[in-house]
Amino acid sequence: MLEGHLTAGAKSSPAPSAKPTFTDCWSFFKMDDFLSEKGKASKAKVETLMQEVTPKLVEYYERTEFPQFMVDRIKALGVNGLDVKGYGSPELSITETGSLFYEFARWDVSIATFMVVQNCLGLSVVDRCGGEEQKRRILPDTIALRKFICFGLTEPTHGSDATGLLTTAKKTEGGFLITGMKRWIGNATFADYIIVWARNIDEGGKIQGFIVEKGSKGLSTSKIENKYSIRMVTNADINMENVFVPVNNRLENALDFATGANNILKHSRIYIAWLAVGTAAGALEQAFQYAQKRKQFGKEISGFQLNQEKLSRALGEVQAMLGMVQRVSKLYEQGQASMGMIAMTKAHCTRTAREVCQIARELVGGNGILLENHVMKQMLDLEGIHTYEGSYEINSLVSAREITGKSSFK
Ligand SMILES: Cc1cc2nc3c(=O)[nH]c(=O)nc-3n(C[C@H](O)[C@H](O)[C@H](O)COP(=O)(O)OP(=O)(O)OC[C@H]3O[C@@H](n4cnc5c(N)ncnc54)[C@H](O)[C@@H]3O)c2cc1C
Repeated sequence: MLEGHLTAGAKSSPAPSAKPTFTDCWSFFKMDDFLSEKGKASKAKVETLMQEVTPKLVEYYERTEFPQFMVDRIKALGVNGLDVKGYGSPELSITETGSLFYEFARWDVSIATFMVVQNCLGLSVVDRCGGEEQKRRILPDTIALRKFICFGLTEPTHGSDATGLLTTAKKTEGGFLITGMKRWIGNATFADYIIVWARNIDEGGKIQGFIVEKGSKGLSTSKIENKYSIRMVTNADINMENVFVPVNNRLENALDFATGANNILKHSRIYIAWLAVGTAAGALEQAFQYAQKRKQFGKEISGFQLNQEKLSRALGEVQAMLGMVQRVSKLYEQGQASMGMIAMTKAHCTRTAREVCQIARELVGGNGILLENHVMKQMLDLEGIHTYEGSYEINSLVSAREITGKSSFK
């Protein structure tokens, strides 16, 4: 690990102009002003944990293995459950939850993604689309991280075109039989519950949500190997042949695509945008520390004009992205954020964060391609973020559809 690897958030007042004033992206524009005391404390706990464990995670990343020890460490923080109300959740606001995704991703995108799946694509789906009995049965264990839950929408032949999915649900005595395939499903190899989006052929082919339980007959999962982005998260192919789902495992309030999967993506895409900003911030902070110490031609490389422009531009991009995610979070809380606004934010932040990571990688020179030096890892992980929860292109088109009133893809 490079000397001067990411520092914890600055607490001191601004230094005289001759001294550097930058310590980290979050405190540069004083973003703590947008958090409550509980929000600040939660973010600080995540920062302390991630700063401690990040050097240890590199070997898991190399082995493409999920670090199970992190489950107990995250459990101890008491932050899981995030913005859900009740059932043992910390009940954070949208902005505060976003700030935690920023913080996790600043240090490690795989851990941030694990949290997205368990929370936004897992237990939040039950919270938003489930009935009271389903919530009481599933939320306490998944919030306490005693059980794991994930989200199966994408299929081998239907990614961007999710509404064309082929998996079917057919009525049978006491429930449904699910048949089909899913691809890229995060955490699915160990999840206790897989939320499967399937076409109910007895109800006009509507896309509905079904909770498939681990060990169900006819269900098999296999890990996707050779992944070079977000390597610690296990993504899986899923095969289902007449998997029985009892009637009380159909999500009660997700009876079509709009009220179900689409509604979920509207909420979770906000957090993916925050996660992209955190990824960029982590890479930039590392590059800054490096550039302040690394000498060429007899002086620190942060003193060269070209590098100064890059540092200033990249930091400006991070601050602008922070403004955007903070604003869209507030609008969502007020019930005023449209899908187009959210899709635009996700698309903009993943594209811009990708550029910031590339600048950071450049600034660290040859050392920048070493895994343990953070910038390359952040850059590679950005590729996964750029594509999941709707690719950059699809989110741009969803936003453009709203702006122009014309759909270019459906
Ligand atoms: C790391 C990772 C984790 C994931 N986790 C999950 C998960 O937990 N659960 C889940 O359900 N899914 C998950 N996904 C799947 C993800 O949502 C899809 O990969 C994504 O929606 C894109 O689908 P695709 O990969 O099939 O690409 P495709 O749809 O085949 O697209 C390929 C390219 O064509 C472009 N494209 C497609 N259609 C158009 C169009 N009309 N106009 C312009 N460009 C277009 C796309 O933008 C993309 O650049 C994950 C993916 C990754 C990489």
